Amino acid sequence: MSNYKITLLKGDGIGPEIVDEAVKVLNKTAEKFNFTVEYDEALMGGCAIDATGMPLPQETIDKCKASDSVLLGAVGGPKWDNLPGSQRPEAGLLGIRGALGLFANLRPSVIFEPLQGDSPIKDEIIGGKLDIMIVRELTGGIYFGKRGRCDHENGTPAAWDTEMYSELEVERIARVAFDMAMKRNKKVTSVDKANVLESSRLWRETVIRVSKDYPEVELNHLYVDNCAMQLVRNPRQFDVIVTSNIFGDILSDEASMIAGSIGMLASASLAEGSFGLYEPIHGSAPDIAGQGIANPLATILSVAMMLRYSLNQPEAADAIENAVNETLKTYRTPDILSADTKKVSCSEMGDMVCAAL
Ligand code: NAD
Repeated sequence: MSNYKITLLKGDGIGPEIVDEAVKVLNKTAEKFNFTVEYDEALMGGCAIDATGMPLPQETIDKCKASDSVLLGAVGGPKWDNLPGSQRPEAGLLGIRGALGLFANLRPSVIFEPLQGDSPIKDEIIGGKLDIMIVRELTGGIYFGKRGRCDHENGTPAAWDTEMYSELEVERIARVAFDMAMKRNKKVTSVDKANVLESSRLWRETVIRVSKDYPEVELNHLYVDNCAMQLVRNPRQFDVIVTSNIFGDILSDEASMIAGSIGMLASASLAEGSFGLYEPIHGSAPDIAGQGIANPLATILSVAMMLRYSLNQPEAADAIENAVNETLKTYRTPDILSADTKKVSCSEMGDMVCAAL
């Protein structure tokens, strides 16, 4: 029987509440699919600052490295908002991506059938189905490039950031996207700004070169401004989108809203091999923390991604996604409640998904 070691980074705000529900569902899934899970907890974000003075203690990195996979709730909150940038909870997020080599961020934008009416985009544009996978480069580009302050030639204070990509960085993220497309609808859209940026021209040349190894996959290129427009004009044209760190940050938030509530969307951040960190795309929602009303489904769906991409349990992943779909027909947390569904708490939602499993 397989046994998996999972490190839990519950974090701040609603983090602990939603991770507890995801663990409940993972335990139920393990029982049903005949595997076992061992958990270890570690501190990251505001809770780590309070306990150790820093957002990402070395012990947390060590525990994550010793596990098969990591599940993260969310970090941050007003209590820590006035700390300098490098000491804020969110610095833990950038730090853990670098420390664990999590270079590929996968963000699926999927609408569950019972929530179809909730997209801000008209039904006729969505066309009954939305299933886009955004593959965002996560450890390079402008968020990790050199930056600084200087005096501008016009005499006023100025600041600069650098976008730099190596061929190797582009090639490995492109391969993740093409491999993903091979398991889906065999279409990759590479997004850049090659009409202006030299780093984008290298990006495009490299993606074209990698595409030769995937003759079955159709490749097209869009400038990022056009892609932002196409996502709301005709989102059905997309299968897999591959793009840089900053463009992916912005486009994946846009794509996630097309799918409806922020409380529904999961993500995976993958290293070379099968190791990954899984988390909902939303933040720590301090405005509703401790009230038992948070929607745990994005975190539960992050566990499904973990089973699919890190733990090689695709049937268990499908079972969780089907159970979520079933549950949504009758039960909803307040953020997605509709007239014909019953309101449940965060913990009851976890129970209902377990029951549907
Ligand atoms: P947020 O995503 O936490 O909240 C935005 C809105 O969505 C709030 O009204 C919140 O109540 C609601 N919401 C979010 N998740 C929900 C859920 N599961 N169920 C029901 N409602 C939900 O974004 P924010 O308010 O901009 O940020 C709050 C804190 O989270 C900040 O400190 C921010 O830096 C941090 N943050 C962390 C992460 C992360 O840990 N990966 C990501 C984004 C923001």
